[in-house]
Amino acid sequence: MKQNLTIALSKGRILKETLPLLAAAGIEPAEDIFSSRKLIFDTNHDNIKLVVIRATDVPTYVEYGGADMGVAGKDVLLEHGGEGLYEPIDLEIAKCKLMVAGMKDAPSVNGRMKVATKFVNVTRDYFARKGQQVDIIKLYGAMELAPIMGLADRIVDIVDTGNTLRANGLEPMEHIADISSRLVVGQASLKMKHRQIQPILDLLDTAIAARRAEVNG
Ligand code: AMP
Repeated sequence: MKQNLTIALSKGRILKETLPLLAAAGIEPAEDIFSSRKLIFDTNHDNIKLVVIRATDVPTYVEYGGADMGVAGKDVLLEHGGEGLYEPIDLEIAKCKLMVAGMKDAPSVNGRMKVATKFVNVTRDYFARKGQQVDIIKLYGAMELAPIMGLADRIVDIVDTGNTLRANGLEPMEHIADISSRLVVGQASLKMKHRQIQPILDLLDTAIAARRAEVNG
């Protein structure tokens, strides 16, 4: 008998790129996710459901078994920590970089630097590895504003084109990590539902390899 399987998807920009990959793995929502306010969606498989939640909640749901597997950005996973999660597939979507940025041509900081970010754990680890003591200021959005208003010397944020930084007079300074979305599977789910999960992983692998081959000509 087929066991029920729940897949947690991150809302927002990742979702648009995730759905075609899921479709390639034979999983399609039964209705249009984007025009619905529902949180749980049926799919073309009786036993598979999708939940659409905030990106930062995906690893928590998967870790505690609220969902069997999920899709989340590596930025979110680094910040959450890998406890209870397997990360078997790099989906190679929503690629961007996690970077330190500051005001354009900002001088180096004497003494303890103030760094504003929503990635508190990643930022602490990054500067600790460099042996640099910093004060971290937790923000929930619009990090670019912090140096402009004198709240912080630097920010740690996601950079894609760099347009957001440039539009606010900031520039990227240090590269922390390359980011893309990953498939995560709960360790308990992988054990208990291996027979159902493994074919999905195989189909996703095949779809990603095919897309890579297409991109590389
Ligand atoms: P950009 O102006 O292209 O450098 O985009 C920067 C902003 O877009 C960041 O502040 C992020 O909030 C958001 N962003 C860009 N790419 C991603 C991504 N792959 N995942 C999550 N947020 C992103």
